Amino acid sequence: MRRALLPAAALLVALPAVAAAAPQSAAPRLDPNRISGVPSHIGRVAPAIIGIRVEVPPDRPSVATLGAARFGSGVIFDAAGYALTVSYVLLDAGRIGIAALSVGLAQGAFEAARQYARTRRQFGQPIASFQAIQWKLADMATRIEAARLLTYRAAFLKDRHRRTTSESAMAKLYASEVAVRVAEESVQIHGGYGFVKDYPAEKFFRDVKLTTIGEGTSEIQRLVIARQLLS
Ligand SMILES: Cc1cc2nc3c(=O)[nH]c(=O)nc-3n(C[C@H](O)[C@H](O)[C@H](O)COP(=O)(O)OP(=O)(O)OC[C@H]3O[C@@H](n4cnc5c(N)ncnc54)[C@H](O)[C@@H]3O)c2cc1C
Repeated sequence: MRRALLPAAALLVALPAVAAAAPQSAAPRLDPNRISGVPSHIGRVAPAIIGIRVEVPPDRPSVATLGAARFGSGVIFDAAGYALTVSYVLLDAGRIGIAALSVGLAQGAFEAARQYARTRRQFGQPIASFQAIQWKLADMATRIEAARLLTYRAAFLKDRHRRTTSESAMAKLYASEVAVRVAEESVQIHGGYGFVKDYPAEKFFRDVKLTTIGEGTSEIQRLVIARQLLS
């Protein structure tokens, strides 16, 4: 039996049908470390994040199986609970990835602003000598550090196979919103040059907005966190 990866996309696509077709209580006890499936593009990445090992029998390439359940052409009936759990775990992991992406983008935007502030001269001195610019840089650096620590914390817990629904959502929410703010301040510090492609500030500003949308918008992260707080 050759080792491959579960088609996570197929799982997620099947979820609405699963929810309609099968009560949660019908979910069987399945070994999370052994899932059969057909390799797929998305499936190569996602299970690796959560450490699922998948094996595909070479004589049954067209039928994806999840424990005893079959899906692909049909509907998952008896693995609904398990499929939902897998999708939640995937989201918890993916959100740490977006948080890390946010920290990286924020750091890049910050470095660009710091470097520019040291070299750009106005009124006979580098703009970095103006307190208004110094305060911006201080706030940017402080927020980035807080976002990084939230991200490390969620990743630390995930590495220890803990459920990180709250921690992932908090890291993703905070880091992405910090990144957007830092990228905007970076453009501001660049002045007119923040608006043109000669400097990297405008690209950070364009790219960073994905982070408050992908893997669940900021509004949805707040919903997730509130649900955890109130449950
Ligand atoms: C660059 C990019 C790459 C992407 N890559 C992928 C990918 O690889 N795989 C993938 O699956 N998806 C991907 N997405 C899709 C992304 O996950 C969705 O765009 C995102 O989850 C938001 O869904 P939506 O666009 O349908 O917005 P909608 O759900 O229509 O939301 C619109 C607005 O309404 C708000 N809203 C919706 N529901 C609620 C609620 N209950 N309470 C409060 N506010 C609410 C939202 O926060 C948002 O502000 C990508 C998106 C982008 C922009």
